[in-house]
Amino acid sequence: MTTRFRGITVREGLLLPGPAGWGEFCPFTEYDDAEAVAWLAAAREAADDGWPEPVRDRVPVNATVPAVGPEHAQRIVRDSGCRTAKVKVADPGGSLAEDEERVAAVRDALGPSGLVRVDANAAWGRDEAVAAITRLDRAAGGLEYAEQPCASVEDLAAVRRAVDVPVAADESIRRAEDPMRVVRAGAADVVVLKVSPLGGVRRALRIAEQCGLPVVVSSAVESGVGLAAGLALAGALPELHHACGLGTASLLAADVVDRPFVPDGGFLPVPRRAPEPVRRDGVEADPERAARWRARHDRVAALLEAPVQ
Ligand SMILES: [Mg+2]
Repeated sequence: MTTRFRGITVREGLLLPGPAGWGEFCPFTEYDDAEAVAWLAAAREAADDGWPEPVRDRVPVNATVPAVGPEHAQRIVRDSGCRTAKVKVADPGGSLAEDEERVAAVRDALGPSGLVRVDANAAWGRDEAVAAITRLDRAAGGLEYAEQPCASVEDLAAVRRAVDVPVAADESIRRAEDPMRVVRAGAADVVVLKVSPLGGVRRALRIAEQCGLPVVVSSAVESGVGLAAGLALAGALPELHHACGLGTASLLAADVVDRPFVPDGGFLPVPRRAPEPVRRDGVEADPERAARWRARHDRVAALLEAPVQ
């Protein structure tokens, strides 16, 4: 990886070939085998069955602005070509004043027609979130939404009632049953869905239909093989009102595909199948790591195939 993310500097995964193409099985290292079952189901869908027909051939993606100074933030936004920017706020090392400055700079770079969303990654308490969102909304000249201001679903619901800015749920949605919990609690206006933890494109489409809220498709920082599945979901959603968080290829220092999914003019194409991976330095695992992943795959496959009790 080019930058540390979720405390990791190396993104690991296993690529599976199948009759329909390639799938990526890449649950984070700390996930146990039960948690990894959905990730394998998503990889198998890509490899064995392929994805449903898309209804659009490209999807808008957001630029991602980490906790950097205002000039750097503007450069990121201008270089991206995106019309939507997701701005990291509530960083442990930063202040609300710095967040306001960054958000205002991003608005300046995007102009009045661009969209600014903020992501607090569950860092705020309930009251803190209400105060911060109100100030950031003012600094941004209007926010598209505030993503995961607090950790708990109850706090998300309370914040959502207290502010005019729409609230998006991201960390609150990690398993297939979570979106309905968020909906029932009235905790979000937008749900962030990821193909891998939700068990595949078809399952994510069903979840989107059931929860009835606008969806933002996001990546789990997969390689070009896994990103293709996220793009397939974004391409197949009957409606897509928001830019997606799929422009994450640049977080990887090397990719397994020849032409990584780098946004062009703020859009990524919707592929019919994952691109063919290539072996090259910087992406091939050493024998010890490869053996660990094969063993992990086999354990999770046994769970996936176990008859339901
Ligand atoms: Mg997020």
